[in-house]
Amino acid sequence: MTHAIATPPIPSLAITGSAQRFPVHRIYCVGRNYAEHAKEMGAAVERGTPMFFMKPADAIVADEGSGVIVPYPSATQELHHEVEMMVALGRGGHDIAPGDALDCVFGYGVGLDLTRRDLQAAAKAKGHPWDAAKGFDASAPASVLVPVARCGHPRRGALTLQVNGEPRQHGDIGDMIFDVASIIHELSKLWTLAPGDLVFTGTPAGVAALARGDRFRAELEGIVALDGVIA
Ligand code: MN
Repeated sequence: MTHAIATPPIPSLAITGSAQRFPVHRIYCVGRNYAEHAKEMGAAVERGTPMFFMKPADAIVADEGSGVIVPYPSATQELHHEVEMMVALGRGGHDIAPGDALDCVFGYGVGLDLTRRDLQAAAKAKGHPWDAAKGFDASAPASVLVPVARCGHPRRGALTLQVNGEPRQHGDIGDMIFDVASIIHELSKLWTLAPGDLVFTGTPAGVAALARGDRFRAELEGIVALDGVIA
């Protein structure tokens, strides 16, 4: 079989300690997974079922080990950072039981769920979808992935973001309303998960604006960090 146009490249992430890469299939994101962030957004803290949205796989800006350069997006005056733990799936499935969910995890990383906050506020006010606020080009700067064989399944640990050397966000993944197993379980009720899926697990409090020239450092304590600049 040949394609009528050039085959689009498969977005992928580097893997710590490996020459192989992790091909990104889909990017799922969890909204409002830390109570203090839900409050700062003026949203109710929902503990029943998580709220999901998606980004296209090619929104990834992959760290090759020396940091990322992220272009300031079009059509916004309010680009916000949301530092998040990323979970990369090596196995998928449908209706995955919570007790089986962690067996699907390939590894962990840290990334930014970049958000056009002004467009998101306008969409919320009109009851419109969030795609233009969340799923734009280069909206998912992402670290290298650390395989489970190296880092295990982290249950606690600081999740932080510094901008120009100043602390902006500080949370602990132990404070997620829905933990990793619950997220995978709930996602798999709605979509058939596949190897290559990447999950952004929500952001702690402290989201704020980024400007051109800002340098950031996102870190999942003891596991992985991501350095970058907004260009
Ligand atoms: Mn987010």
